[in-house]
Amino acid sequence: MVLEVLKFPDARLRKKGEAVKEVTPKLQELATNMIETMYAENGIGLAAPQVGESVRLLVIDTRPRDEDGNIVLDGMTELERQVDQPIVIFNPEITVAREKTTYEEGCLSVPGFYETVDRNKYVEVKGLNFKGEEYTIKTDGLLAICLQHEMDHLEGKLFIDRLSFLKSNRIKTRIQKHGYPTAEEVVEERQEVRARRKAAKEAATAAGSK
Ligand SMILES: [Zn+2]
Repeated sequence: MVLEVLKFPDARLRKKGEAVKEVTPKLQELATNMIETMYAENGIGLAAPQVGESVRLLVIDTRPRDEDGNIVLDGMTELERQVDQPIVIFNPEITVAREKTTYEEGCLSVPGFYETVDRNKYVEVKGLNFKGEEYTIKTDGLLAICLQHEMDHLEGKLFIDRLSFLKSNRIKTRIQKHGYPTAEEVVEERQEVRARRKAAKEAATAAGSK
């Protein structure tokens, strides 16, 4: 079942997620619905507070896809490829975080807005899987960025809170005054961001090969 994704400034996005004591069938159903919702919205990650559930639960699938929706593994790092996706993780906790990086992020709860955010490049995240068993994800690349972004949601924090005061306020005021861009504008902006990310990656690769 596709769930409604809450948008800033919905107060429910500010509530901290509560730790899961046991992975019950009800929570498994929530995770399944969240995965369906993430795919329906063309997102790469979703946290339970985004669908109005104050629970420490994330679902993620950062695997790149071609125009037909088929998964293509190129563009993923070695570590990312080793992680089974889609990911379901309850009570995620960062145990190791190394090196700094930046990424131009977006969010299903702030559609149409993309800004560069500081993150760690490599993370190890411990939590419970769909069956309630403990496991650890060790990754870098987009998956590491996405894990950190989604974990912020569990603290009631959005990526636009991580920007400079000026930038953050400009976006929040714009949304509160004028609302969100139309669905067409969101798609357009997303395509532009993809092109910018690709160019940035190519520039980095070119610089690295010199
Ligand atoms: Zn988000």
